[in-house]
Amino acid sequence: MKSAVFLDRDDTLIVNRDLEIRPGERAGDFADPDRVQLLDGALDGCRSLKRAGFCLVIFSNQGIVARGGASLVDVDATNDRVCDLLRDEQGKPLIDAVYYCPFHPEGSVDGFAREHPWRKPSPGMIHQAVEDLGIELEQSWVIGDSPRDLDAGRHAGIDDERLILINEHTPDVAEAALRILAAIAPSERASFSLRAERPALLDDERSASTVRASAEALAERTGIRLLNVSIQGGGLQIELEGSEFVAVGFAAELRRLTNAWHRRHYETPLWPEPAVEP
Ligand SMILES: [Mg+2]
Repeated sequence: MKSAVFLDRDDTLIVNRDLEIRPGERAGDFADPDRVQLLDGALDGCRSLKRAGFCLVIFSNQGIVARGGASLVDVDATNDRVCDLLRDEQGKPLIDAVYYCPFHPEGSVDGFAREHPWRKPSPGMIHQAVEDLGIELEQSWVIGDSPRDLDAGRHAGIDDERLILINEHTPDVAEAALRILAAIAPSERASFSLRAERPALLDDERSASTVRASAEALAERTGIRLLNVSIQGGGLQIELEGSEFVAVGFAAELRRLTNAWHRRHYETPLWPEPAVEP
């Protein structure tokens, strides 16, 4: 039996609420493969979870079909595009299965305008995935940006501590993935180091203290215990409590966050990409 992470799609993996609403569109309704845009951290997060052996399942309400805003073909094409963007370093797809619910009780399209056991917060999509893929729910998780995503997991019997809401405390899937990896890792120790693009970049006190503060904040948000943080000779070395998967995921997320900060302030990245040395 394998464990899964059930991932909501819109505003968890891809941008939806920040998309421009076009004439005739309803906020939140989105089914256009050409406008699919991964959210920050979605790719890194899925890669981290896959590395750790999780089955990745997207489960999404698509009442847009019942409302007549898109066809099943449009939704399938959009989902295919999401899956196409989510691949590992070798190009292998990360998503094992996609389930979506085209029904909505207030819809207008014949055949779809009704309540359905798949529609979150009902747990139908999770039950179906368990049956299709042989998933062990006991060790499975849910990540979503809406309470109804978590309620679907809860109604399927997943413990509350395995339901992760994307919000200001867990801003993206990469950090949700770190929380999961930290929670499942036996009490191991792992370390990683990053080397600055140029050693002098880390001699800058502002950069060095930002890196340290970012590492501490990330550890705090994800429940990871840092054992040692050292910055010297143009390099950062961190030892933490957790498996090697945690170290690799932590390094990737810290690099992404601090590179974004460095680009904002100095117009160049701090670390070359990729620069992980587990
Ligand atoms: Mg959502």
